[in-house]
Amino acid sequence: MTSASVVRPGIDPGRTPVTGSAAAVDEAAWASAVAAVRGVPLDAEVQLICHVNPDGDALGSMLGFALGLRRLGFTRLRATFPGEFDVPEPYRALPGSDLLVPEQEAYRSAPLILIFDVAAESRLGALASLLGGVSRVVVLDHHASNTDFGDVNLVDPGAAATSVVADELLTRLGVPLDAEIAECLYVALTTDTGSFKFVRTPAVHTLAARLIATGISAADIARRTFDTRPFGAMKLTGEVLGRAVLDRSAAGGHGLAWTYATTADLERHNQRPYVLDALIDPIRGVAEADVAVVIKELTPGEWAVSLRSKGAVDVSAVAVALGGGGHRLAAGFTAHGEPEDVIMRIRPLLDAHLA
Ligand code: 5GP
Ligand code: MN
Repeated sequence: MTSASVVRPGIDPGRTPVTGSAAAVDEAAWASAVAAVRGVPLDAEVQLICHVNPDGDALGSMLGFALGLRRLGFTRLRATFPGEFDVPEPYRALPGSDLLVPEQEAYRSAPLILIFDVAAESRLGALASLLGGVSRVVVLDHHASNTDFGDVNLVDPGAAATSVVADELLTRLGVPLDAEIAECLYVALTTDTGSFKFVRTPAVHTLAARLIATGISAADIARRTFDTRPFGAMKLTGEVLGRAVLDRSAAGGHGLAWTYATTADLERHNQRPYVLDALIDPIRGVAEADVAVVIKELTPGEWAVSLRSKGAVDVSAVAVALGGGGHRLAAGFTAHGEPEDVIMRIRPLLDAHLA
């Protein structure tokens, strides 16, 4: 395992112009990635992997790319992610979902492995064991904290989503864009840009325009993906927001708003963990706080922690210090203990990493 955290200069997705063409990746890396794909026969096993608790960028960039490989003629494609085989409801109808298999059914010795939206091997769970063998491993990602654990690392911290990198590699492989690929990449792009709220350059919209030009309905996709939740999820959200705390003196006085949700909350409302991912948005909207934290109990005693900043704190550095990673304004890590203990661990780090 690579333990060193590679932090590149000029890598701040919150500030650096988004290029839309993964400009931070050098030509040699692109050439190596193209050669890695072209270098295996069309009937070779190809394994695609995205991160644990997959979100729209992880699944969308992986499945969009998998469909591109299918268009090239590859016949043995499998896509997976670590952990329980529970695809979040909003992503179940993504094109290419027929290629998804539980992690136990991943190809064990595929000559080519492609990895999407994964900043570190720790985000691969048990699937990390597939690395280090005979496979050529190509990593497509946009996290500044990426540890370069692949044989070929296409990492552009200036890209708004991993799908920007996936789109560029598909283009370089000569795969024509079609509506199915575009739907996957569009879901990915809209997930990581908060439906274009976090975009800083026109390039993201240029890519979006190219995707929409294939005939996909941006409105239908947005409604299905972001604006449709079970009634129980809405009730759960109400309770979790109701227990939010505002800590004005945290982060050097810039303020912290936080809340938590437990497995008991999920059970009471009969909901799956993915519904908790949307909770960070109202918390980050709190005017009195720069930093937003949501502590989500995914399995008893184990919490996925989401961190956001409006600019006063480098939350990626905070997350890295606690064993996680992410971007300067959006990061996360895994924690154990009670929510209050987690906050006590985060609090001094907020002061230590004021931007
Ligand atoms: P989210 O809060 O939406 O789950 O994640 C925000 C960002 O932090 C994403 O870029 C995600 O990849 C990263 N992130 C979240 N949790 C972890 C973690 O446990 N480890 C690492 N390395 N990155 C994480
Ligand atoms: Mn992403």
